[in-house]
Amino acid sequence: MKKQELYKYIDDNSEQYLNISHKVWEFAELSLKEFKSAALYLDELEKQGFEIEKNLGNIPTAFSGSFTQGPKPGTAGAGPVIGILGEFDALSGLSQQAGAIVCREPDDKDLAASQGGSGHGCGHNMLGAASFGAACAAMEYLKKTDTPGTVVFYGCPGEEGGASKAFLAREGEWKKLDAAITWHPGSMNEVTTGTSNSCTQVLYKFKGLAAHAAGNPFDGRSALDAVELMNIGCNYLREHMKKECSIHYAMIDGGGFSPNVVQPHASVLYMVRAIKVKDVKELQTRVDKLAEGAALMTGTTYERIFVDGTANPLPNTTLEKVIFSNLNEAPLPVYTEEEHQYAAALRKTWDGREVFPGLGALADKKIAAEIKELTNNNAKDLNDFVYPFYSGEEFTPGSTDVGDVSWLTPTVQFNAVTWPAGSPGHSWQNVSCGRTSIGDKGVIYAAKVLAGTAADLFTNTELLKQAKDEFNERTKDEKYLCPIEDDAVPFVIE
Ligand SMILES: [Zn+2]
Ligand SMILES: [Zn+2]
Repeated sequence: MKKQELYKYIDDNSEQYLNISHKVWEFAELSLKEFKSAALYLDELEKQGFEIEKNLGNIPTAFSGSFTQGPKPGTAGAGPVIGILGEFDALSGLSQQAGAIVCREPDDKDLAASQGGSGHGCGHNMLGAASFGAACAAMEYLKKTDTPGTVVFYGCPGEEGGASKAFLAREGEWKKLDAAITWHPGSMNEVTTGTSNSCTQVLYKFKGLAAHAAGNPFDGRSALDAVELMNIGCNYLREHMKKECSIHYAMIDGGGFSPNVVQPHASVLYMVRAIKVKDVKELQTRVDKLAEGAALMTGTTYERIFVDGTANPLPNTTLEKVIFSNLNEAPLPVYTEEEHQYAAALRKTWDGREVFPGLGALADKKIAAEIKELTNNNAKDLNDFVYPFYSGEEFTPGSTDVGDVSWLTPTVQFNAVTWPAGSPGHSWQNVSCGRTSIGDKGVIYAAKVLAGTAADLFTNTELLKQAKDEFNERTKDEKYLCPIEDDAVPFVIE
């Protein structure tokens, strides 16, 4: 089965994949609450003949669908096991009309009723749909060519919060794979390389005693004071931590709206970041001490709830090269005049403070010059080309639970164009574009790149061996340290 036939299979079935993307866009369910989206995927996987596993790692919306040609994994003559990762959670407060070029007012009534105010600002409706399409095409490939191998589609909930892949890493799920491949919607067609932050999130819920703020404040114990003192402590701590570390926080509960009450409850969610999980854990322990101190100072008590955590991604140059060749092999989307006009209009809604995008342009002057030319000096509305190949270990800020997968099996990601050039992350513009023909074209292109990559890995065992050798070399001196605490269970912040 040639790649062209694989692409044709995806084109012939594109309606099914786009239907998933559109439906999940409409569901716009928040992290770990993606019940409708998960049910849709399970239904579609079953129809395709995948073997379903639900409730992975005891997470209700985590699941997998696998198909094996030839002997089962772990038995004689079995082929490689390739995992294709899909995500499908949305973000709060970003609900938007499809194809809008003006931001919708957040108090729109029908918007609140129909979509709960959430939107796919990270494009995970497209992410899961393309990965699903690729899994179907990979299944077709194994059947048609009678190649021994297993393809597993992973439904990974809670990427924006919950880090299901890290919880599954704690359970050793990714060790079952010979490689994992995935992608992310974006504004460039490019291989993802380098690394990013490890992190943990911990919620501190303080409890005090309510009292009349003027009448008998001496009887009150303020949980809000505890949160404030914890934050002040943290501001002092910031001077005494390693440079590459950072600490962020959000007030989840300020107690109430009445200043005339000594607030009896207040909560703060902390996020600790560093490059290595080891440094995150060390710093997290010091942040824990701040909560203890704040409670002591205010005479309050507190509950510590571990929320989630992720590890820094480990690059794999071998797999990055396979992705790059597939980015070039698969036919690039061609955009209509109408699509260009929409992209240009959307682009006007943010100011153009962008530097030339991509890690390669930052690390390599030659690539920066090339990108300047390819983007017409950033004037292109839609980047209809493949970014020059670049592989490195440079760091970009941010965190993803794909990192946890990458410590247990050779893993690779890429970006495909689903948005206009320079579209801001987690934005209403991404929600708007994620259910237009531009987003659809990105889904189909990404499905082809993933399917082509899977086919290469199933067929060329030498390639997979090289990827594994590289993985073993990179993990020789440093083993995976799971950021998820031993007794932690997935936690939904309401
Ligand atoms: Zn995101
Ligand atoms: Zn994302």
